[in-house]
Amino acid sequence: MRVRYDRFYDYAALLETLNAWTAEFPSLLGVEPIGTSYEGREIPLATVTNLETGPPLEKPAIFVHAQIHAMEFTGTTAALALVDRLLHGHGSDERVTHAVDTRTFYVVPRVNPDGAEAGLADGRWRRSSVRPYPREEPEDGLHREDVDGDGRVLYMRIPDSNGSWKPHPDDPRLLVARRPDDLAGHFYRVLPEGTIRNWDGVTIPIAPALEGLDLNRNWPAEWAPESEQQGAGPYPTSEPEVRALVQAIVDRRNITSYVGYHTFSGVHLRPWSGHPDDDFPVADLRAFKLMGEEAMRLTGYPAISIFHDFKYHPKQVIRGGDVDWVYDHLGAYGWVTEFWSPQRAAGLDGYHFIEWIREHPPEDDLALIKLADELGEGYVDWYPFEHPQLGRVEIGGWDLVRFWFNPPLSRLEQELSPHADFALFLALVSPRLEARSFEATPVGDRAYRLRLVLENAGWLPTNVSEKALERKIVRPIEVELELPDGARLAAGRAREEAGQLGGRIERRSVTWWGVDHSTSERTKVDWVVEAKPGDRIGVVARHERAGTARAEVVL
Ligand SMILES: [Zn+2]
Repeated sequence: MRVRYDRFYDYAALLETLNAWTAEFPSLLGVEPIGTSYEGREIPLATVTNLETGPPLEKPAIFVHAQIHAMEFTGTTAALALVDRLLHGHGSDERVTHAVDTRTFYVVPRVNPDGAEAGLADGRWRRSSVRPYPREEPEDGLHREDVDGDGRVLYMRIPDSNGSWKPHPDDPRLLVARRPDDLAGHFYRVLPEGTIRNWDGVTIPIAPALEGLDLNRNWPAEWAPESEQQGAGPYPTSEPEVRALVQAIVDRRNITSYVGYHTFSGVHLRPWSGHPDDDFPVADLRAFKLMGEEAMRLTGYPAISIFHDFKYHPKQVIRGGDVDWVYDHLGAYGWVTEFWSPQRAAGLDGYHFIEWIREHPPEDDLALIKLADELGEGYVDWYPFEHPQLGRVEIGGWDLVRFWFNPPLSRLEQELSPHADFALFLALVSPRLEARSFEATPVGDRAYRLRLVLENAGWLPTNVSEKALERKIVRPIEVELELPDGARLAAGRAREEAGQLGGRIERRSVTWWGVDHSTSERTKVDWVVEAKPGDRIGVVARHERAGTARAEVVL
């Protein structure tokens, strides 16, 4: 079975695909639930690694999850496309084979199955979980709803002399803001498609969504309550979906990098949400930037800081987001990929990712509606409808779910394909512990000197980040000697600690004379044993993040 791009996955199709792949690739894929959603759906985790080269926890890992936000279906398809690439590329694609043999990929293709299932059923945009919060009952006002039953929730426009919108002179389907000094003309009031609860006949407040949670504001780092951060939930990890993810991540101490798949904007986001880049340890910011450059090269999406370039409000920062926790508490490199930029697809350039949504020149709308026309979906010309409360209105405008929050299906594969390469890159830059040599030299009667040389064959240091050291979350390499019966250790300890090893990331320029990193990725451990010729001595070196290396020598 291959990943499908001709429709978005519902929950049954998602499970069916994972089950089919588990049967087809038993030595590469395992699927297990990490918890259950608010409505009781299991949240599956796919673990991809070659079991013949070692169990998942003995290899460095990347953790990828998708669709924590209800309507971002693209993320699930991208996560499945990654798994598909790993499974079907193993054995034929050299890079994939190496990655699956030496690394572990943890993929949660749909964090929030409830929100996704509800959104597929009624087409109504909702942010995240379906749990009513912070109120149990809907508030009065306009609630988004598919009032004409065509499967889409669009906009309603009503002629109004005091309206804020007027038709674009070059394309009357488009509505543009009425100028401050537009005195006369044909103006409209625009409302989301929906019905009004307890309407007073005059005012039409937009009611806050009954489902007010944002599962990406419910994480334990720099969490803040609802008064400060909308959607935060009552306390960090209060929601079962987030709790399941957090537990799954802390249970897998081999995770070195992390990506959450979202939409939209066509951008890779990195921490912090609430702090400037100056607050990073220098080495970590450098690592993030180098990864970001590669992300841009592979996918065409720029890599930016949430704090500097992706604030929703110039004076507010996002609290309780996932990548801040992953980096700040675990010292792993956390990314958010926001798939798809309709603006870029329409040829726009140099716009601010957030401010553009708030305000932009009418010419940009023309470019976008041209794109929608070419793709055959995304913008619906206004058509009359007899609204049960408002009387005659027109329904139409942008289809948020099918054009903005997800690429039209005809663009889906093209948009997603390069991103498996970024996941492969993040997996391959991890540290990786290797036993370079393990040798025995006779030093006397039945006495041997044993020497184990360990190397970090990866790009990142074994500790992954400075932050991980600062948080004291990453343990040193542990080396354990396995002696046969009758052998005796004469010098050295059966269990040794071998510290952390540097990585190639430190070596960026041969002209840099400041620090000697020439063998910072290498160390040795020596022992003297008394044993008999022909004895077999094993050694195992373990590092939670860099993996496990084994070697043996025959005396
Ligand atoms: Zn999102």
